Amino acid sequence: MTKITPQPGIMEIALYQGGAAHVVGVTDVVKLSSNENPFGPSPKATDALRKAGLDLHRYPGTDHAGLRKAIGEVYGLDPENIICGVGSDEVLQFIAQSFAGPGDEVIYTEHGFSMYPILAHACGAKPVKVDETDRVVDVDKILAACTDKTRIVFIANPANPTGTMIPMEDCKRLAEGLPPQAILVLDGAYAEFVEGYDGGAGMVESRDNVIMTRTFSKIFGLGGLRVGWGYAPKELIDVLNRVRQPFNLNNLQLQVAEAALRDREYTVKCRLENARMRSWLIEALAGHGVQADESFTNFILARFADEKEANAADAYLKSQGLIVRKVAGYGLPNCLRITVGDEPSCRRVAHAIGQFKEGAA
Ligand SMILES: *Cc1c(COP(=O)(O)O)cnc(C)c1O
Repeated sequence: MTKITPQPGIMEIALYQGGAAHVVGVTDVVKLSSNENPFGPSPKATDALRKAGLDLHRYPGTDHAGLRKAIGEVYGLDPENIICGVGSDEVLQFIAQSFAGPGDEVIYTEHGFSMYPILAHACGAKPVKVDETDRVVDVDKILAACTDKTRIVFIANPANPTGTMIPMEDCKRLAEGLPPQAILVLDGAYAEFVEGYDGGAGMVESRDNVIMTRTFSKIFGLGGLRVGWGYAPKELIDVLNRVRQPFNLNNLQLQVAEAALRDREYTVKCRLENARMRSWLIEALAGHGVQADESFTNFILARFADEKEANAADAYLKSQGLIVRKVAGYGLPNCLRITVGDEPSCRRVAHAIGQFKEGAA
């Protein structure tokens, strides 16, 4: 007789739902459900992929020195304080695994990224969900929820799926007010979309309880490659590196990510085009009576009258080949998250929502 049971917490995990990519029976589909870069990665990244493919018999390096050096140069950071992972998801996992376990609490917020409670459960810790205020992270509510069991506070800034952001002073107040055993994780997946924003790197340098995570999946257009990184005080990096597998990133990932990162001109172009179409889309939807908060990301959160209207809008968009993201699972049943696509895609979305509202009125 076997008695095989999973570790505590594992069976509490609700599987992550990725954005849909297909609509049965509809061709010419535009996927706006996963916050991908509509222009894809820099052509230099694609070139690097071809070259890296010639060395498949070679093991990758274990220390990611080349990529960390490139990150250090582009962002003005010390490579010694950087760790790379299979997407920032893996870096977030290192953090949870290293610093939280059974009996501990991991804080995330009302509409926070769904990976946070998954990671908390996976290490046996208790995810604690804290209210936001009008779809914005509320530092006072987080501080009020902290206990002597709080080990990690996860916030994305800017946040997904709300697209909102809190000022750096609030992040500082949060880090300052945490109990001594707790780490603040600033998930900067969308940081590059905010001009002049360091994602919290300065806070990492001036404090000892902050970790910043970043990704190649969003502005760099490499969601399919799976590369992310973290920036933390040396003592914490040293801990995280112990749970990282030596060959977690392969040659292709390392070479392609570095090439994408070094094409700064391309990144700026993507940021500017995203900002242009994001304003356009928010205004166009407002013209059809659909509101959205100011967004600091590459998506907008469109608010409908209620869940029924949001679902009907989603179905109509789908029938037009436009795949957006339902976010009822994030406590936002009356909303749809729409990635900012290229100009033709944005025009198609605005047109379809206009048609939907006219038909529904
Ligand atoms: C997309 C996203 C990530 C990135 O995940 P990867 O594993 O790097 O692809 C991380 N955090 C948030 C909030 C995101 O939206």
